[in-house]
Amino acid sequence: MSTSPNPLLSRDFERLTPYTPGEQPRIADLLKLNTNENPYGPSPAVIEAIRRAADDSLRLYPDPASSRLREAIARRHGLDPSMVFIGNGSDEILAHAFRAFFVQDRPLLHPDITYSFYPVYCAFFGIDAVRMPLGPDFGIRLADYERENGGIVFANPNAPTGIALPVAQVEALLRVNRDSVVLVDEAYVDFGGESAVALVRQHPNLLVVQTLSKSRSLAGLRVGFAIGDPGLVSALETVKSSFNSYPIDRLAQAAALAAIEDEAWLEDTRQRVIAARESLAGALRELDFEVLPSAANFLFVRHRDVPGVELFDGLRQAGILVRRFDLPRIDQFLRISIGTPAQCERLRHTLASLLGRDG
Ligand SMILES: *Cc1c(COP(=O)(O)O)cnc(C)c1O
Repeated sequence: MSTSPNPLLSRDFERLTPYTPGEQPRIADLLKLNTNENPYGPSPAVIEAIRRAADDSLRLYPDPASSRLREAIARRHGLDPSMVFIGNGSDEILAHAFRAFFVQDRPLLHPDITYSFYPVYCAFFGIDAVRMPLGPDFGIRLADYERENGGIVFANPNAPTGIALPVAQVEALLRVNRDSVVLVDEAYVDFGGESAVALVRQHPNLLVVQTLSKSRSLAGLRVGFAIGDPGLVSALETVKSSFNSYPIDRLAQAAALAAIEDEAWLEDTRQRVIAARESLAGALRELDFEVLPSAANFLFVRHRDVPGVELFDGLRQAGILVRRFDLPRIDQFLRISIGTPAQCERLRHTLASLLGRDG
């Protein structure tokens, strides 16, 4: 009979280990630098598109294929729409990809320090994984991944380190790894990484996943996309339609289309985030922080003398939320999302006071 302590729950329920999202508390005057949201509001064209789409047509189901959005993304990358898949946030695409590609007899390979949803999906789908250690500089060593595997997944730039791999290294891996899917999670690529999208035509086992949550400032809309060979895309469609045929609602499709088409907004805001990141990195180094080289919209930093948890608590008391991971090797680090210049200055100033430095 059931070994579960609660007979109402499924037999394998204990296997689930849910992802813990960054806090979204309601504190007055809170500065939220903990979930890598964009400090700027989305393109005004997005808001206008939602207004226009909010009409009687909401009584109708949305286009299950998100065709117009797929076409716009395909056009932007000079690809056929059959190479684009749309999901309810890139988290959902990752889930479908893990289900479609990584349930194998051979193990999935992923970095030991990485996006914490990967182990969650492994537990969810019963996928055996081998965690590949980062190098001493916290970089991913892709040469280590040239071994038997049932799939490879990593984020580039990596999370929570922010460190980017040159796309030439991804290509070198793809040249030798042809029999399993290589999934590159490019959630942060617009902030300074090199995209692997240029490689999808030559490599039918490469899937690149991006999101509108970070660089398009649409975390609340829940839209992500994947780019890869039509064979991979159609496998994702199969998983999707075995689960939910309409994950992207009408408003989200209209809004995401407007976001993709507003290149000027993207260019302007990403340059502002990058400039604020570089300036904050310099200021934190002056306060004796070690700052990993970031190509993302956050910094991963540790102080040379003061424990991470002490700084985390001090910031929280001052109404500034950052993220800390209680994991081996990185438990002294803080992950700080890049805010506006004024928000970065508030953070810098608060850290300086906590460290007993004036100014
Ligand atoms: C934020 C993030 C995602 C998820 O993005 P959504 O599209 O909002 O689901 C995926 N991967 C990484 C590495 C992220 O940081």
